[in-house]
Amino acid sequence: MTDIKILLVEDEKKIAETLRKGLSEQHYDVDIAYDGQVGKQLFDSNNYDLAILDINLPLMNGYELSRHIRSRNEQILVIMLTAMNTTEDKIEGFEAGADDYIVKPFDFQELLVRIRALLKRLHQQPQQGSNVLKVGDLVMNLDSKEVTREGKLISLTAKEFQLLEYFIRNKNKVVSRIDIAMNVWDIDFDTKTNVIDVYVNFLRKKIEKDFSSKLIYTQVGMGYVLKENS
Ligand code: CA
Repeated sequence: MTDIKILLVEDEKKIAETLRKGLSEQHYDVDIAYDGQVGKQLFDSNNYDLAILDINLPLMNGYELSRHIRSRNEQILVIMLTAMNTTEDKIEGFEAGADDYIVKPFDFQELLVRIRALLKRLHQQPQQGSNVLKVGDLVMNLDSKEVTREGKLISLTAKEFQLLEYFIRNKNKVVSRIDIAMNVWDIDFDTKTNVIDVYVNFLRKKIEKDFSSKLIYTQVGMGYVLKENS
């Protein structure tokens, strides 16, 4: 066993069993729930590193469950399994706090790659001497995973944290949506969708809305740039 605990909530028993088997072979410790209510109970009484949630579930759907999980734990990683590959689904998933999504029917290897990428980022050891990143009054601690602005604590999901870290590491440089997709999600989003923009807007709301200055600027036709308002 690794010490990684996964909560899998999937009502299609065949898929759930196949995933359990595959994930167990990778030495992950997997708990399964076949409906959202049991998924919620398991989440409430255990400590998981990752939740894999189907969307259409009996008793409580994957979006609701993801919102519940996020309201209790900002650090846990959430992957949604979606049957429909539409932008609306992805956006609703991200709004419900998902870090990543995977479209059914999916290849197990693809799921594993996503899981490993998310876990790697979560457990990445920061380079020595660079555990705190600063932009103006915004301070990001890579060890404690805390972000503050003007001394006020800002609560970010794991994905928002990674996105902000990417922006800060590329301070004053315009980054394209493709750069963001490749570096923050490890995947090549269909660039016709606006998932990145939606996600950037979540981050903006958290780091700009209650503060006096903007940090992330849109460069029309090019992408985004994080810079200090001088
Ligand atoms: Ca289902």
